Amino acid sequence: MDLSPNVASIQPSATIAVSSLAKRLMAEGRDILNLSTGEPDFDTPGWISDAAMQGIREGRTRYTPSPGLPELRAAIARFLSTGDRVVDPAGVVVSSGAKQSLFNACFSLFGPGDDVLIATPYWTSYPEIVGLARANPVFARGAEERDFRLTPDELEAVATPATRGLIFSSPCNPTGVVYSLDELRAVAEWARDRGVWLISDEIYRHIYFGEGGEAPGIRDLSPTSLGPQVLIDGASKSFAMTGWRVGFSVTTPELASTFSAVQSHMTSNAATPSQMAALAAYTDVGRTREDVARMRDAFHRRRDLVVRLFDEKLPGLSYLRPEGAFYLFFRVDSLFAEGRESAGAVCSWILNEAGVAVVPGEAFGAPEFARMSFAASDAQIEEAVRRIAALVG
Ligand code: PLP
Repeated sequence: MDLSPNVASIQPSATIAVSSLAKRLMAEGRDILNLSTGEPDFDTPGWISDAAMQGIREGRTRYTPSPGLPELRAAIARFLSTGDRVVDPAGVVVSSGAKQSLFNACFSLFGPGDDVLIATPYWTSYPEIVGLARANPVFARGAEERDFRLTPDELEAVATPATRGLIFSSPCNPTGVVYSLDELRAVAEWARDRGVWLISDEIYRHIYFGEGGEAPGIRDLSPTSLGPQVLIDGASKSFAMTGWRVGFSVTTPELASTFSAVQSHMTSNAATPSQMAALAAYTDVGRTREDVARMRDAFHRRRDLVVRLFDEKLPGLSYLRPEGAFYLFFRVDSLFAEGRESAGAVCSWILNEAGVAVVPGEAFGAPEFARMSFAASDAQIEEAVRRIAALVG
């Protein structure tokens, strides 16, 4: 089939592929522990769901303005504002998930001939989204001794005059690694000095196991440290709202109107009932913070559990200690063997023989690793590690 160059190299989402395979095997009756998914295992807090239902009953079922309900943009701006750092609602664009926010940003800012640096290991969709904009993803991998956190020197080593952007997540999917404020400042100032767009994906900001429960983000930096930038965030992970599809970007009002124009021709607006739910979440902040803290505490406890179990039962498999998000990124290259020479092959082996679904590191640009989600019950985590340990001996 003669397809457009737009999709010449597109690959389906590897994480969704593994998760779909696991679900298919489960439907066939196999006893599978699915630790491949990138979503909280909690239900959306009931009062947030109720707000959507209430909205539907009140007839809030029509199109909204493309960048989102004005009251939701205002609520998000208030939620993000601190002290004298006031976020302008005109810079907020609500989208159908943070994924669309990232798409709006990359599609608006990058194009053919542009290089976009992607902090590696990366979330699986970044290179694909950059590719959809017909720009070139360029992989910037920090030193493993520093848990892959990038330094200005490492960025400088891969940058060229064609470099137009840098995309990274902190807390990071897939590693759970979090940049300190100083590390963030160094990266932001490098981007500022180079005139490179900084796209900071902070969707896991509230799932942080360090002090205060909120990971450092670019809004915590002095404005003088920042050059051109787009903040990406959303309701999916923090509020257990993955299926609602509500994400947002924050940038200058001028660029926000371009993002809005892009999505006005794609999805028009994030689903109106979902925006009503998000409006409740970003407005009743005290209640939201209680729910976020409850879920974060559970993830924290499970993080402690999974690293203890790995230390005890899988001492041969090293891992990055997650400080946020809900993933354990562990090396699997010691399990390579004849006929099983990739993380993909190791993960298929683990799925087939142990019935545990984890995502191979190829999906994240780190083919020596695999990613296990610990957004699962203690019993599932314990059983998964027990089964893998029994398999690898
Ligand atoms: N950014 C990162 C780092 C993610 O892990 C994900 C989801 O897995 C997203 C963005 C997309 O979020 P959403 O579900 O809101 O589109």
